[in-house]
Amino acid sequence: MNVMAEVRAESLVSRAQRVAAVAAQHAEAVDREGRFPREAVDAMIAERLLGIQVPAVHGGEGATFSEIAELCSILSQACASSSMIFAMHHIKLSSLVEHGLESAWLTAFMQRVASEQLLLGSATTEGGIGGNLRNSICAIEIENGVCRLEKDATVISYGDYADAILITSRAHKDAAPSDQVMTVFLKDQYTLERTHVWDTLGMRGTCSDGFLFKGEAPAEQVFPKPFAEIAAQSMLAASHLLWSGVWYGIAADAVIKSQNFIRAAARKSPGQTPPGAIHLANIANQLQMVKSNIVAGLKTYEDAKRDEEKLSSMAFAVAMNNIKICSSEMILPIINGAMLICGIMGYKNGTPFSLGRNLRDAHSAQLMISNDRILGNTSSMLLVHRQDTSLLG
Ligand SMILES: Cc1cc2nc3c(=O)[nH]c(=O)nc-3n(C[C@H](O)[C@H](O)[C@H](O)COP(=O)(O)OP(=O)(O)OC[C@H]3O[C@@H](n4cnc5c(N)ncnc54)[C@H](O)[C@@H]3O)c2cc1C
Repeated sequence: MNVMAEVRAESLVSRAQRVAAVAAQHAEAVDREGRFPREAVDAMIAERLLGIQVPAVHGGEGATFSEIAELCSILSQACASSSMIFAMHHIKLSSLVEHGLESAWLTAFMQRVASEQLLLGSATTEGGIGGNLRNSICAIEIENGVCRLEKDATVISYGDYADAILITSRAHKDAAPSDQVMTVFLKDQYTLERTHVWDTLGMRGTCSDGFLFKGEAPAEQVFPKPFAEIAAQSMLAASHLLWSGVWYGIAADAVIKSQNFIRAAARKSPGQTPPGAIHLANIANQLQMVKSNIVAGLKTYEDAKRDEEKLSSMAFAVAMNNIKICSSEMILPIINGAMLICGIMGYKNGTPFSLGRNLRDAHSAQLMISNDRILGNTSSMLLVHRQDTSLLG
């Protein structure tokens, strides 16, 4: 990293730490009440973290994916719901940054995201389709320069609080389910009629209610690039990497809590190694594996960004799928191990070692685009793609 990049990374980390301090203060109430983490999101806005990914020439700071993933991890050590909101916003923003420059409207909108710190939501999931991102039932209608869309969007995180929603649909009424486009609708261009309430085990503060979405906007707000390319070249990687950053932070927080627990036990009985210490060594090892996997994934993505052929390759898609599977599955045994270390103090709410929220939030990871679906997709690719066995990256 050059000196300027180091200064910027340090500044991003300090800003995220200040947001994390606010998020931590309200995390329990956000979880208990299943409410939007208004204070944490306001702090993100105050620290101007919503526009950091936008290139500097367009009013942002050109933050890299590795930097943004690090911020996700910092935030989720305080409040995973706030962190997931931050991650989902940046996943949507990545579509504008990577694919919006060919459209004057999308470029201007990306600039607005940075200058006005707009919060972006996502509506890909649809009734009857579930998490099959690459298929839609609903179709956008484009007539006389205006586009209209109605979608049974069964999960839209912070739908009520977003300033704009990026939504997928079929490209026109006769299009095949996989012939999709993505469109930006601004808050005053759509209505949301609530169809499901998000009363869940974890990630309660994401407020991911279901809505009947009805929107009307100028047709220039439709991305010119087919959604198939946006998904393959940036969105899947962005999702799997930034989600992994969030999940890693949840597990890292559990490891830190159990390390604190073991240290306190060691201080009480000097000269004796607390019995849970061996579990701590084990989960620290597992956490390192998750970290290595994410760091390697981030490097693969940053490298592939410079090479469109690599970005569209099966090897890249398999690698990104594997990042998601690994981090979403491995955080559960880590948190479980932390629970064994902390015992009742981890199981109880309201102690410095409480792990209930970590465990509940972590359980969303395997379902957030079902791992079964992702493994099914990877297995189809492995029928034709040769397994990569090189250690050279
Ligand atoms: C915290 C959180 C926030 C979210 N926010 C948003 C959001 O803002 N916007 C949005 O659009 N979505 C959002 N989602 C939705 C998410 O990304 C998934 O699309 C959704 O959770 C999948 O729902 P499902 O399990 O009902 O659907 P499905 O994908 O239909 O899966 C149901 C079950 O069917 C099985 N299954 C289905 N298809 C296959 C297959 N091909 N191969 C093998 N098994 C299969 C699996 O066992 C799976 O568990 C969010 C989810 C979470 C957890």
